Amino acid sequence: ESRIADTWTKTTCGYCSVGCGMLVGTRNGRPVAARGNPDHPVNLGKLCPKGLSEHLMIEAAGRATTPMLRRGGRGTPLEPISWDKALEVMVTRIGSIQERFGNDSLGVISTGQLVTEEFYTLGKLVQLGFRSRNYDGNTTLCMASAVSGYKLSFGSDGPPGSYADMETADVVLLIGANIADNHPILCNRLRKKPGQMLIVVDPRVTKTAMMADLHLPVKPRSDIALVNGIAHILLRDGLVDREYIREHVEGLDEFVSFVADYTPEAVSATTGLTIETIEKVARLYGEAKSAFIGWTMGVNHSTQGAHTVAAINNLAMITGNIGRTGSAPFSITGQCNAMGSRESSFTSALPGYRKFDNPEDRKALAALWKIEEEELPTARGLAYPDIIEAAVKEQVKAIWIIATNPVVSFPNLNLLKHAFETTEFVVVQDGFYPTPTMDYADLVLPAAIWGEKEGTYTNSERRISKVNAFAVPPGEARSDFDIFLGLAERLGVKDRLFPGWSSTHDAWLEWQKVSAGRMCDYSQFTWQQIEDEGGKQWGGERLYGDGQFPRENGRALLHCVPCLPFVEQPNTEFDLILNTGRTVEHWHTRTKTGAVAMLDAMSPNAWLEMNPADAERLSLRQHDRVTVRSRRAYVRDVELRITGIVAPGQVFMPFHFAEQNSNLVTLGAFDPISREPNFKQCAVCVERS
Ligand code: SF4
Repeated sequence: ESRIADTWTKTTCGYCSVGCGMLVGTRNGRPVAARGNPDHPVNLGKLCPKGLSEHLMIEAAGRATTPMLRRGGRGTPLEPISWDKALEVMVTRIGSIQERFGNDSLGVISTGQLVTEEFYTLGKLVQLGFRSRNYDGNTTLCMASAVSGYKLSFGSDGPPGSYADMETADVVLLIGANIADNHPILCNRLRKKPGQMLIVVDPRVTKTAMMADLHLPVKPRSDIALVNGIAHILLRDGLVDREYIREHVEGLDEFVSFVADYTPEAVSATTGLTIETIEKVARLYGEAKSAFIGWTMGVNHSTQGAHTVAAINNLAMITGNIGRTGSAPFSITGQCNAMGSRESSFTSALPGYRKFDNPEDRKALAALWKIEEEELPTARGLAYPDIIEAAVKEQVKAIWIIATNPVVSFPNLNLLKHAFETTEFVVVQDGFYPTPTMDYADLVLPAAIWGEKEGTYTNSERRISKVNAFAVPPGEARSDFDIFLGLAERLGVKDRLFPGWSSTHDAWLEWQKVSAGRMCDYSQFTWQQIEDEGGKQWGGERLYGDGQFPRENGRALLHCVPCLPFVEQPNTEFDLILNTGRTVEHWHTRTKTGAVAMLDAMSPNAWLEMNPADAERLSLRQHDRVTVRSRRAYVRDVELRITGIVAPGQVFMPFHFAEQNSNLVTLGAFDPISREPNFKQCAVCVERS
C-alpha cells in the first residue's frame, strides 16, 4: 500500500511542552507520515524523534478498544462490557462509596495530556457533579514547584517570558534542565544570537551540558547555594538594577543580610565549584544586558522545589531581568498541556487563576456558572501525593485515574500499590490496554488519544495551539470529553453544568468567558485564528513588562531561601546518590512511545550510569547487570553503563521503564508547598544482579 499521503492535517505535538506545530499525512483516513510545520513559529518545521513518529502511535498494538470490568471483583479478569453498563457501574459504585464515606472519599488524578477543553470540563464535573474536592493532575509530579514558586515571588503563576527571550538573551543560564533530551527542539533556539553565552548547571554532563560554554557540575541539590552565592556577588559588586528594585521589588534589606553568608568561599564548599567559576558566572549574569534563566525538573523535583524557584526569581528581580526582551526567569514545563491544566482546572487554583479563598473571585465564578457560591470549594482539595496517602489511610475509597500511569511514575511505588490494593473502587481511563496501572483497576474506560480529538494545548511560553483529529478512535474508544459528558448525563447534571454541549468547542466557548479579563485570558482568540497563526500567547510575548505584579502592593517579593541538606543522605551502606531523568526517545512511562516500534528499538531498556571510579571500587564491569537498592526496595537486572557523564558518588537512571522501574527505589518525600516529589537525590547501593 502506498505511504504517500492524500491529506495533511495541521496539529500540535502531543508529547512535550515545546508545542511543535506539525502536519500529519493520512491516506484513505489512515496516518502514514508526520512532518514539522515549516510555518509554525515554535519549531519552524523541525520535529524530534518522538514527534516524527507520533502518527505511528495511532495504529500501534495495545490500544484500549472496549470498556472492561472485573465482574467477580479483584483477582478476577477484566471482561468487556458496554459503555452503558460501564458508566452505570462507575456512577453507582462511586455514589455508594460517597454515601458511606463522604463526597471527598473520591480522588481523581488526571494528566497534562488532555486538551484544555477537557480539563475545564473535568474540573467542573468533579467539583460540581461528583462534588469531590480531591482532584489533581500528574502535573504535580512535574511542575507544581514552578507554579508555587511563581506565586511566592510574583503573586501568580505564569511563566513571564517566551522562547524568543531564550533566543535573544546575551546570557542563558539553564539550571537542572537537560533540554537536549527533554525538549529537543528548544535547543534550536539556543546560540542563534552571536556571542550568546550558554551556562548549564547540572551535576551530570548531559547532552545540554555538552553544548554549554560553561558547564557547572554542582554537587546534587546545591543549586540554591549557587543562586544565593550569585546574588551575594551581584549585591557586593553593585551589579544590580537599583532603580528596578526601588520601583518594583520588596524585601531587599532582609535579603541583603541573608545572602551575606553565601560568600564565594562558602558556596564553593557547598557546590564543589571553584571560587573563580562562581565569580565568573555572577559577573556574566550581572553584566549581561539581557539574561534568561530556564529550569526544569532538576529544580522542580525537590522537597525545596518551590523555594528554589523563588530563589531563582530573586536573581531576575535584583537585576531587573524580567519583562524585557531576552530577560526572564522561565520554567520550561513538562507535558504538552501542563499549562492548560493549571489555568483552566481546579488543581492549584479556581479556573482562570482565581483564588480559592478570595471572595470576589468565588463570587465572579459562581455568577458565570450560575451556581451558588457555596458550591465552590474554599480551599484546594488534596494534591496527588495526599490522595495516595489518604487512600493508604482508607479515607479516599474510590480513585479515578485519567491518562496517566502511576504504577510506573509515582515515587516509592510499593506504597502506591498498597494504596490501590486497599482502595475499594479504582477506575482507569486510558488510550492503551493493558497498562501496569490497570492491574489494579476494577473498571477500564477506553479513551481516544492525540490525533483522534480536537481542542487546544498551551505550551511553556503560554502559546495556545490547535490540536486536530485526523483519525477515529479504535473500537468503542471515546474521547475523554465524551466520557465526561456521558458521566454528567448519568449523574443528572449535564443540563445544569454543560447545557447543550456536544463538542469540545462548546467547552472552549465557555472557558473563553470564564478566562476573559483574567491574566490567562483566552477570550481574544478563535480556534481558527490559533490554527492559522501557529498559536497565540495569552498575555502576549512576555508578562510584567510594566513592572506591576499581581500581589496586593503590586511588587514582586524577594525570598530568603536557605540551602538545606537533601532528605536522604548517603551513608556507608547506601553510598551512592541516585538521580533520575529522561531520554530523548521516550515519553514518561512509555505507554505511547513504547508502542512505537522505532522508538522502542532505539531505547528498549533502562540503564544505570556510574562513574569509572565507583565501578572499579565495586568491581563492576561495563554492561554488567546490576541491582540498585535503596532503603525501600530494589530494582534488578539493570544494564550498567560506566561513564564519566556522572561524577563519582552519583548514579543516574532513566525513569521510563516499567520493567526496571527506578521508582521502586525513589523516595516518597514531597515539597511541603507544591507537594511535588523529590524524585532525585536518593541514597542507593549497587551490586551485580
Ligand atoms: Fe514534540 Fe516536544 Fe519533540 Fe517538539 S520537541 S516534536 S513538542 S516531543
